[in-house]
Amino acid sequence: MKHIARKRFGQNFLKDQYIIHQIIDAIDPQPEDLMLEIGPGKAALTEPLLKRLTHLHVVEIDQNLIRLLRSRFNKQLQIYEGDILSFDFNPLLKDKKKLRVVGNLPYNISSPILFHLMRFAGDILDQHFMLQKEVVERMLAHPGSKEFGRLSVMMQARYNMNLLLEVPPESFDPPPKVYSAVVRMVPKPVESIADIDFDALEKLLAQAFSQRRKMLRNTLSSQLEALAAIGIAPTARAEEISLEQWLTLLKHQR
Ligand code: SAM
Repeated sequence: MKHIARKRFGQNFLKDQYIIHQIIDAIDPQPEDLMLEIGPGKAALTEPLLKRLTHLHVVEIDQNLIRLLRSRFNKQLQIYEGDILSFDFNPLLKDKKKLRVVGNLPYNISSPILFHLMRFAGDILDQHFMLQKEVVERMLAHPGSKEFGRLSVMMQARYNMNLLLEVPPESFDPPPKVYSAVVRMVPKPVESIADIDFDALEKLLAQAFSQRRKMLRNTLSSQLEALAAIGIAPTARAEEISLEQWLTLLKHQR
């Protein structure tokens, strides 16, 4: 059965065996790991993962690909049909083992997926994702750079992250228009982030970065006292404020 790649599902299938091996080695699956793959597609990662795992859970939205997967694999592969953005992780998290999440993500919804997973971070051991390189650069960006924004602060507040490898378009079929990169994300220990109100942080950042070239005295005009109390100049711009400063401001805001 032939499958024609669907653009609306962000389907760019990995074909480069060297890259596939590097990703699997970086994940380093252990037989008894509790692992979920987002968007298995034509099994480029799924198959080598299954060679090392006792069991693998996958979430796939494309019915045609689900049929292909069912015809190829047995019960070792547990397939959930549907949208990862409405996937209920709770049944998987019942057995007290922390979950490992992997995937060559559909780029059109990669940020919503990252934010959706944040809610379950306390039960997740690690995440290995192929993303658009530009998204990974934003996730890892330092204050003062043009890539530094809401995504950087939110992800850096919740995860320790590092770039594992960069992947050129020709490693995929069809090739995407952009470069890609694989990132490892390890949730920070719950104790170290217990006092962060992530919903409030998201709101604060949305306001501050709404016009990123503007000074904070304009975008956060209701927080001038808090800014002064923690020593942030009202003339500073959102992209210059470090993660630590954002978290301090969060505690002091009115
Ligand atoms: N893992 C395969 C590979 O590396 O070749 C496919 C990767 S492809 C970039 C993204 C995969 O995610 C596709 O199989 C696509 O059908 C699936 N997908 C797209 N949107 C999805 C969603 N909302 N929920 C679950 N899977 C989705």
